[in-house]
Amino acid sequence: MKTDAFALRHLGPRESDLNHMFKTIGVESFEQLIYETIPDDIRLKKDLNLEPAMTEYEYSNHIQELGKKNKVFKSYIGLGYHPTIIPAVIQRNIFENPGWYTAYTPYQAEIAQGRLEAILNFQTTVIELSGMEIANASLLDEGTAAAEAMALLFDVRSRDQKKNNTNKFFVSEEILPQTLSVLQTRSTPIGVELVIGNHEKFNFSTEFFGAILQYPGKYGQVHDYSGFISKAKAQDIKVAVAADILSLVKLTSPGEMGADVVVGTSQRFGIPMGYGGPHAAFFATKEEYKRSMPGRIIGVTIDTNGNRALRMALQTREQHIKREKATSNICTAQVLLAVMAGMYAVYHGPKGLKYIADKVHASAVTLADALNKLGVYQTNTSFFDTIAVKANATKVKAIAEKQEVNFFYVDGETISISLNETTSVKDINQIISIFAEAVGKEYVAISQLVNESMVPENLERKSTFLQHEVFNNHHSESQLMRYIKKLERKDLSLNHSMISLGSCTMKLNAAAEMLPLSMANWNSIHPFAPIEQAEGYQIMLKKLEQQLNVVTGFQGTTLQPNSGAQGEYAGLMTIRAYHMSRGDHHRNVCLIPASAHGTNPASAAMAGMEIIVTKTMENGNIDVEDLREKAIQHASNLSCLMVTYPSTHGVFESAIREITKIIHDNGGLVYMDGANMNAQVGLTNPATIGADVCHLNLHKTFAIPHGGGGPGVGPICVNDKLVPFLPTNPIIPTGGSQAISAISAAPYGSALVCLISYGYITMLGAEGLKNATQYAILNANYMKTRLENHYPILYAGEMGRAAHEMILDCRAFEEKGIKVTDIAKRLMDYGFHAPTVSFPVAGTLMVEPTESEDLAELDRFCDAMISIRKEIEATTKEDTNNILRNAPHTLAMLTTDSWTFPYTREQAAFPLDYIAENKFWPTVRRVDEAYGDRNLVCSCAPIEAYM
Ligand SMILES: *Cc1c(COP(=O)(O)O)cnc(C)c1O
Repeated sequence: MKTDAFALRHLGPRESDLNHMFKTIGVESFEQLIYETIPDDIRLKKDLNLEPAMTEYEYSNHIQELGKKNKVFKSYIGLGYHPTIIPAVIQRNIFENPGWYTAYTPYQAEIAQGRLEAILNFQTTVIELSGMEIANASLLDEGTAAAEAMALLFDVRSRDQKKNNTNKFFVSEEILPQTLSVLQTRSTPIGVELVIGNHEKFNFSTEFFGAILQYPGKYGQVHDYSGFISKAKAQDIKVAVAADILSLVKLTSPGEMGADVVVGTSQRFGIPMGYGGPHAAFFATKEEYKRSMPGRIIGVTIDTNGNRALRMALQTREQHIKREKATSNICTAQVLLAVMAGMYAVYHGPKGLKYIADKVHASAVTLADALNKLGVYQTNTSFFDTIAVKANATKVKAIAEKQEVNFFYVDGETISISLNETTSVKDINQIISIFAEAVGKEYVAISQLVNESMVPENLERKSTFLQHEVFNNHHSESQLMRYIKKLERKDLSLNHSMISLGSCTMKLNAAAEMLPLSMANWNSIHPFAPIEQAEGYQIMLKKLEQQLNVVTGFQGTTLQPNSGAQGEYAGLMTIRAYHMSRGDHHRNVCLIPASAHGTNPASAAMAGMEIIVTKTMENGNIDVEDLREKAIQHASNLSCLMVTYPSTHGVFESAIREITKIIHDNGGLVYMDGANMNAQVGLTNPATIGADVCHLNLHKTFAIPHGGGGPGVGPICVNDKLVPFLPTNPIIPTGGSQAISAISAAPYGSALVCLISYGYITMLGAEGLKNATQYAILNANYMKTRLENHYPILYAGEMGRAAHEMILDCRAFEEKGIKVTDIAKRLMDYGFHAPTVSFPVAGTLMVEPTESEDLAELDRFCDAMISIRKEIEATTKEDTNNILRNAPHTLAMLTTDSWTFPYTREQAAFPLDYIAENKFWPTVRRVDEAYGDRNLVCSCAPIEAYM
């Protein structure tokens, strides 16, 4: 046996455990288990056609070699991406720390207070710099944040009688090109007409409901937008501003100018460029729009004892509730990156940020000055960090690239140069020397920055920001290191225990997969760098696309979408483009089974589709006859079906081929939601079941960590019908021959974290991937067998097997006054994160162990669930002061002098033996959701403000 095989590290159960596990569930072998689980007509007959698996050591060498093919040039390209310095203390303690990056979205607030506080810091930073009232916990990138702003303004206009039949949206020609492309994609299907122009010539016609401006403009010009905004206001036109976060330290905020929404990226707050992402976009708006705001909001509330506690606010706005009425499908966001950007603000504080912004500005002024002396004319009358100069672009480019320097070449004679936090006097001299050579003049070095402002007096920021103590008290490394540790200790992540979240596939995020993210020649490339400088990336991304084609059985992949939901949207938009290319403009009906994840209908609504919900049968399966009837009824307008496989109930429905055939026979295509791909890889695939397109959640099935709620990568894989329509990018063309416009801002989405999935597939190979799936199915069925005598299991396949997850029905316990959330909270006392609560069925828990959990951990979790079942048995409806309803139990409760509960301290905190050795303490008692929603506070204002 090759003991250095990565598969042995990735898989939990040891070979010696298999017999016991097989015996428990009553099978002889994997073959039998898989035979009983997956319908035979969709089983793959051959292994995946992939290269042989690499060991961790081989992969490490391979990725370093490949990295050398990426050329890290000095980047002055700008356009929303800038070199930045990751504070080492943040890199080591957050970016490279599984305590932070393996956490789940903070739905279980009592064991997530650390990251909730870190995100609150991010929101506070955004609110104060943008000058707005509320902000969310991040969006996927600036381009899509701008699209969300447009969608929000379009949505709120419908409540305004004067505006509810307007559909024009003004876009300043100074908007970033990739943002414009995303706006084009997102506006068309919902019926918004974009009008692009010069904001100074805008006529403020009443036909417009909104406008978006870029601040500073894409090539650096800083405009005073207050006049524009007040004229727009007079016509009831709402204004969004896409702003550079660092410039806001120095400039009057859009909020102070009266903007309705402010969006942007926080990349330059210490997040590596990573060839396009991941980075956290921000979204800030006014209190009055809080119920329309996309994404998640962290808010302040109280716990059972009235102590301050944090949690996700206004959950009822989520797509799960709104479904086809949703205007946004955002689910996974960019939490880890938001945490880091917020921590960058904590690290620097207001003084440090001011120092950086002043230095960047002085660098730009100094450079403009020196170039002017060379006779190189600079066109921006007012600027922050970016200058636009007139020179022969061909000449400059040739000299600059020889010196490993990138500028942005606007046209033959205009060059845009963006300076940044890392720019030194030496760098400025290099730029001067390049231009001196280009214009044939003598080069005169500068020795220091000039202290002059190119920001007009009325645009100089006068308001203070980040006065809260958190931004002013952590400026020694010891303090910050301990602050980060203090927060980390409040959170339960995969480095403590299994997180068995059904549908979310919280598997191992192996260190060997993560390490390359810290390498400079992977993380320091600008997404718009010339393609020949990113050869390593081009090879890696192509190979990953190829691997995903093999895994899905499809012909083409785009890595552009930054989340599963964005993949859904991308897939539906390619389907839409396909129908249109055939003249079938009317095909816009999308069938969706009732059990679908909320993002499905939300994505379909965003793609302008009419949603028809199809029935689910008693046993959880799709009602094939109902589906057939509706497909036939809508045949002339049928666009597609969205189907999750195995189903959201964790079952391989045997009718799947019939289902996909019905859709094809009626002129539609089939979109497969790939969130459950962990049950398919190597055993079956979307092409075989008859799908035309699927998204994959690389942050579920392919080992990208959840990061506390992001980043994500949601590529779509498509068959040859749809390959021509894969999305492009306006600067670095990607996609098919009839590509749709951009789905996200960067050409390859979050390219940096694609390395993780590439490492995962490359180190597992065909056999390892197949084994991962088989072990995932084994682990799930083992737990099912252990738990089914204690909890009714909803739904199973025809031969009684679960796929890779199962649903425990907890609804009957309501007779004893026990709700499913009581079980979720009680699990915390046992050291576990709850499984998925109330999805896809209210009142249930959906458990997905994944292949990475070993037998002992599965047994501990089952023991905990069985013990909780006994606790439920021992309660009565009248007994409201019980161990479940009081859960979780904090250390403070246990150690107070008076213990008044009708059970012992030991029962409360140490109900099973294994717990004592590795006790996890929730830091707050149960949080009060309603209180927080009634008193929405989403920044770290002083305590008195909300108590
Ligand atoms: C996770 C999930 C999604 C959404 O993916 P995100 O990356 O969070 O946008 C969609 N469908 C299903 C079934 C999922 O489990």
